[in-house]
Amino acid sequence: MKFETAAVHVGEEPVFSEGGSGDVVIPIHLSSTFAREDVSAPPRGYEYSRSGNPTRHALEKKLAVIENAHFGLAFSSGLAAETTVALTLLKKNDHVVAFDDLYGGTRRLFNHVFQENFGVRFSYVDARDPENINAGLRKNTRFVWLESPTNPLIRLCDIREIVKIAHEEDIPVIVDNTFASPFFQHPLLLGADIVVHSTTKYINGHSDSIGGAVMLSDENLYRRIRFNQNTAGAILSPFDSFLVARGIKTLALRMERHGKNALAVARYLESHDKVDTVNYPGLRSHPQHTLAKKQMDGFSGMISFEIKGGKTAALRFLRALKIFALAESLGGVESLIEHPATMTHASVPKKEREKVGVTDSLIRISAGIENVDDLIADLEQAFGEV
Ligand code: PLP
Repeated sequence: MKFETAAVHVGEEPVFSEGGSGDVVIPIHLSSTFAREDVSAPPRGYEYSRSGNPTRHALEKKLAVIENAHFGLAFSSGLAAETTVALTLLKKNDHVVAFDDLYGGTRRLFNHVFQENFGVRFSYVDARDPENINAGLRKNTRFVWLESPTNPLIRLCDIREIVKIAHEEDIPVIVDNTFASPFFQHPLLLGADIVVHSTTKYINGHSDSIGGAVMLSDENLYRRIRFNQNTAGAILSPFDSFLVARGIKTLALRMERHGKNALAVARYLESHDKVDTVNYPGLRSHPQHTLAKKQMDGFSGMISFEIKGGKTAALRFLRALKIFALAESLGGVESLIEHPATMTHASVPKKEREKVGVTDSLIRISAGIENVDDLIADLEQAFGEV
């Protein structure tokens, strides 16, 4: 099955046997526990909803196929997914190499939980040059953690090249594929070992569920992560599982529109005299446009840009917008805008933040699926207030 077909059907095949009613949509199985017919009878597939639930199971099948994986696991947030993967792979005093331009919450998790509490060391390197990953590897490196494109500077790394380097040392590569979505980028096909997502973003796509996912094909590793999904217990609820499964059915359609709108907005911003730089991989001016074309099937809906006039201009511009909601998060049908320095990346110390390029002039846009003329008109009137 092609992506669009699998996204609609996998996990939700109508069941007629054993009293199945032929539902074309997976029911929301709210039961927290599942009765057995007799004390000596084995469970009929499910025992307790933390360990396994039919609605979540249906979603997990769908998550696997859209990411070209054999296995999928659904968690209560993107960070819960990340935490469970890290808990599975890391021990005291281990080492990790990570892209230096990561989502702020991921860095907070690494630094304040795994480093402070367990002595895990993190080397943050500029992964735009794969050689920096190579230079960062140590004897006790347990994995390489990548995001591509990154949040919020929309930088890319060459996943295939980095996988080659890490695999030479038998080190697995984990890719946070949240920004690209499984529709536009396929890290497992590029050789990565594990993909993580905040399903809160494009995968659910309607800004009404917090969730996370892990997709992979190595059965042994899957069993270990699944063991910790149950043991640590950060599972996705049945209702959220239903919402995310529903979101996935329109992922392809939404991503096509997100990408189209974002390209038009990026081109508009690039031509504006109050804008300094625009970061969007679909623009020829993006320093990694060639890599983006090679590695991605589309450029997704995330843009960042630097406004002329620093923080004052940035805040004035943001306050004037009428259609774009001033909000963290991304990937929903509605267009969002935010100021990373005071919002999503406020937990990253100013010095570290500015070192990677998250300045006070930087604004991040998540282009929604509205009519792009309305979006551009809103930006235009807001620039008029700066
Ligand atoms: N990864 C990326 C790239 C993100 O942008 C986010 C949240 O913004 C996360 C992970 C964390 O996901 P969640 O908020 O669902 O825990």
